[in-house]
Amino acid sequence: MQKKVKYLIVGQGLVGTWLSYFLQERNISYAIVNDSNSPSATSVASGVMNPVTGRRIVQTWLIEEVLPFAVSSYEGFQEKTNSIIIQKAPVILIHPSQQMKDSFDYRLNHHNVFLRNNNALAWQSFFNTHFGTGEIDSCYWIDLVQFLQAGKRIIAENYIESKFEYKDLRFIEKGIEWENIIAEKIIFCDGVNSMHHPYFKSLPFTPNKGEALIVEIKGLPAKHIYKNNIAIVPWKENLFWVGSNFEWDFANTDPSSAFKQKMIDSLDSLLKIPYTIIDHLVGVRPANAERRPFVGLHPYYPQIGICNGMGTKGCSLAPYFTHQLVSHLEDKSPIHAEANVQRFPQLKVS
Ligand SMILES: Cc1cc2nc3c(=O)[nH]c(=O)nc-3n(C[C@H](O)[C@H](O)[C@H](O)COP(=O)(O)OP(=O)(O)OC[C@H]3O[C@@H](n4cnc5c(N)ncnc54)[C@H](O)[C@@H]3O)c2cc1C
Repeated sequence: MQKKVKYLIVGQGLVGTWLSYFLQERNISYAIVNDSNSPSATSVASGVMNPVTGRRIVQTWLIEEVLPFAVSSYEGFQEKTNSIIIQKAPVILIHPSQQMKDSFDYRLNHHNVFLRNNNALAWQSFFNTHFGTGEIDSCYWIDLVQFLQAGKRIIAENYIESKFEYKDLRFIEKGIEWENIIAEKIIFCDGVNSMHHPYFKSLPFTPNKGEALIVEIKGLPAKHIYKNNIAIVPWKENLFWVGSNFEWDFANTDPSSAFKQKMIDSLDSLLKIPYTIIDHLVGVRPANAERRPFVGLHPYYPQIGICNGMGTKGCSLAPYFTHQLVSHLEDKSPIHAEANVQRFPQLKVS
């Protein structure tokens, strides 16, 4: 039997889940198709929202708008789903070198909103703190495993477990048809898979592979995120996510022994307490050359939309831009010019 909905969403990662959630909030009909066996960046990500970035510790793009919106959205989501998703988690910086300490000290005294000094003694029983410590405030940890599970519960009635294949998509007079679904629009939230679509393959995607170890570290407080050359992020009960790397040129998405060894070397020199490796995760970040998301409707095919390209900042950007996309689709409000996919008029089907 045919089912008519307003939107068909492809992909239930961070982006597809938020898009479904905001449509549901407004009682707008949708269906969401997701293939659990296709690669998902969300399921291996550490879930950190950090307002500063890079070696120079500068504020990230749009953070003053994006972060408060994301925090209140996750809080609303956890209330609705009766789950614990978001936790405030200051980043403890364990400076890896004198240069990084100097960089921190400089930023502390120049245009600083989020940094503060802390007491290195408090961390000395866990870490080697040769170059001292510092702290980043207003950081949050999102439990993405819980988020995806809770998301699946609330969208269950509209969820279809299936692999979307382009060859099965048909354009009809007022929208699209896929299997038994008729929709006014189809919105792609399928992460790196969008790179292969005929309609979006010319977007400047620059996917990068990232790996992480799941490590048991008994006794390490789980209310903070720890950063040195590596990040140590709470995962669940005595388990921590340890990573990561950014590989732009990769032949496969297998776990690599080189990465594992690098993490072991870093943990050995950083930690004063024992640890056990439990798992090794791999994902591919849907990053892009401009470091700005792709949001909106295709400039030539308005029945096709996309919300993608969140790169390393999916946790904070996804709620903000999926909400903006819903307002655009339903109320014709604008999409941020730097994120609007229509900034690529060269999008052509070949
Ligand atoms: C190692 C690592 C660490 C990271 N850490 C952080 C972090 O701390 N903070 C942060 O903000 N971001 C982080 N990121 C980035 C973050 O994970 C991404 O920005 C975000 O998850 C992207 O979400 P998405 O929904 O666009 O894509 P995805 O999560 O990849 O979701 C795509 C979905 O589409 C489905 N799919 C794909 N193809 C098909 C198909 N043909 N048919 C049906 N379904 C399909 C997939 O199964 C998946 O569910 C990290 C990424 C990695 C790899």
